[in-house]
Amino acid sequence: MSGSFIMPLLGCPMSSDPVQPRNLIPIAVIGDGCAGLSLAAKADLLPGYALAIVAPRLERPQQDHIWGMWQMDWLKDTVPLARKIWYKWSIRSAETEVVMQAGKHPYLALTRQTWLAHCKQRATLHGVAFHDEMAKLVDLPAQQVFDSRPPKQRPDMMLQHFIGWHVRAASGSFDDDTAILMDFRCDQSRGMHFIYCLPFSDSEALVESTLFSPSLEPDTFYETAISKWLTGCAGLTDFEVTQTETGAIPLGLMARHDPNLQGIGGNGGAIRPSSGYAFSFIQKQISSAVVQVISCGLRAPIRRLIFGWTGCFCRCYVISHSVRPRYSLKWQRG
Ligand SMILES: Cc1cc2nc3c(=O)[nH]c(=O)nc-3n(C[C@H](O)[C@H](O)[C@H](O)COP(=O)(O)OP(=O)(O)OC[C@H]3O[C@@H](n4cnc5c(N)ncnc54)[C@H](O)[C@@H]3O)c2cc1C
Repeated sequence: MSGSFIMPLLGCPMSSDPVQPRNLIPIAVIGDGCAGLSLAAKADLLPGYALAIVAPRLERPQQDHIWGMWQMDWLKDTVPLARKIWYKWSIRSAETEVVMQAGKHPYLALTRQTWLAHCKQRATLHGVAFHDEMAKLVDLPAQQVFDSRPPKQRPDMMLQHFIGWHVRAASGSFDDDTAILMDFRCDQSRGMHFIYCLPFSDSEALVESTLFSPSLEPDTFYETAISKWLTGCAGLTDFEVTQTETGAIPLGLMARHDPNLQGIGGNGGAIRPSSGYAFSFIQKQISSAVVQVISCGLRAPIRRLIFGWTGCFCRCYVISHSVRPRYSLKWQRG
């Protein structure tokens, strides 16, 4: 990474722009997803800077989905917004089940819309400007551009891909004390495959079929796995699907969307290669970026997060799919 990220984007503000106090240093942020808005929400911590978000209006609004994560010290803002918190979670295979418990670091679920709305509200309160045309970027006199557009994905990359169903069933259908993070009682023929079940109450749950492999399967693969698990493992005969979510998260190192711009979020290396988890790491990255700007100004590059051994872990999964369920169970046992 280069030592300086001051961008050559000095230009003349357009006459319709809000008048910016002369002494504020302008910063532009591309993208209004998790990383872009999480940074904008912290604008009050950067009183010497004027932040502007540049994000084109999407033809189709991004689907809502759940972010799951372990509660950490740097996630204090997310806890009051959580849809549900679990102090127990389990990993299971046909042979065995491991149940883990945590007092200090429970597992929590947050909806994307809740978090983005919270960040946008804070950002607006702290005077962040929002622009919905990329062309605006050249007009902004930004001395730094943080870019959260997706990084460049290689065609052969390992992916974590999934379809999730939000399911409603009769009360008593789910044990809402325990999140099921991996249940391997499903088809293992296409790659490492497990069912992820977050029970929000005893009658509502997100049930996801998640596969680790370099290529996507037809939707029927994931849907059949969810249906079979709901009937065969959860013992449900009648349920309603109220919402669906899908995703394909690339796992591994990727080049930034634009090598000349400072990447943040997925574009700044914040996706953990072994699991696809990113929300927590994005919050950590944004907090450290803010501290760096406060203490060193705009010259300091934002460091990539180091996930060294988790990348090896990911490759081990790929090498021998027959040991994957056992490996995951052992790993959870410690
Ligand atoms: C369905 C799904 C479920 C996930 N679940 C979890 C989970 O449970 N736990 C977890 O930790 N992580 C999860 N992740 C991974 C990760 O947390 C998210 O992908 C997260 O949103 C990444 O944040 P980001 O800001 O890097 O990207 P995004 O939130 O995707 O934001 C990217 C922004 O860039 C904009 N953009 C894209 N292309 C362009 C362009 N060409 N020009 C201008 N702007 C552009 C988009 O509009 C958006 O505003 C999940 C991801 C998905 C997709």
